[in-house]
Amino acid sequence: MSSPRRASRLPAGARTRAPQVLSVLQATYPDARTELAFTTPFELLVATVLSAQATDVSVNAATPALFARYPDAHAMSAATPEDIEPLIRSIGLYRGKARNLAALARLLVERHGGEVPNDFDAVVALPGAGRKTANVVLSNAYDYPAIAVDTHVGRLARRLGLSTHTNPDHVETDLQKLFPRDRWVFLHHALILHGRRVCHARRPDCAACDMAAFCPRVGVVAGP
Ligand code: SF4
Repeated sequence: MSSPRRASRLPAGARTRAPQVLSVLQATYPDARTELAFTTPFELLVATVLSAQATDVSVNAATPALFARYPDAHAMSAATPEDIEPLIRSIGLYRGKARNLAALARLLVERHGGEVPNDFDAVVALPGAGRKTANVVLSNAYDYPAIAVDTHVGRLARRLGLSTHTNPDHVETDLQKLFPRDRWVFLHHALILHGRRVCHARRPDCAACDMAAFCPRVGVVAGP
């Protein structure tokens, strides 16, 4: 297990690269935001829980019917997992997610008056949520400054030499040290977009990447 001291050590050159990374991301993805479709904090919370190990496209395809049937926590709190399952069957791990959604809606009603709390610890404690979900929901719904570290953000942080860690919490700590607080939410969305469009997990398209001039490409193996 990494010690706090180890978790706090930034890679060499990270402080020089960070502004270069931010500059390219701002020029390339000026309007970066979540690709999940939502109109209320409750819808964003539900969509984020559904997006675990599933694509945003698959979530966005299912949520219109789900939200039409259960527009808020009060409506969903009356549902059983079996009521919810048919509406999200096209999304991976739908049985467990249906259980979590029914439980989290009840908990929102019982403890928070049916509202999504603007409180990190309260969101983390909801069924099916976690640190990443809380960061995504609070940053998008309430402008809470956070850098949710998912698979794309973690991979790019390591390749770009901004963090050496695999633990998402440690990667988040490193990124928070390197970037201005008011850019954290943007950074999260822009790194995800760059991971999806250019810096792919298996075959990063370094030849087409605007960061190639300064990216150390940590762990990237040259393709055939
Ligand atoms: S240069 Fe390659 S490894 Fe670095 S961010 Fe771009 S695509 Fe990813």
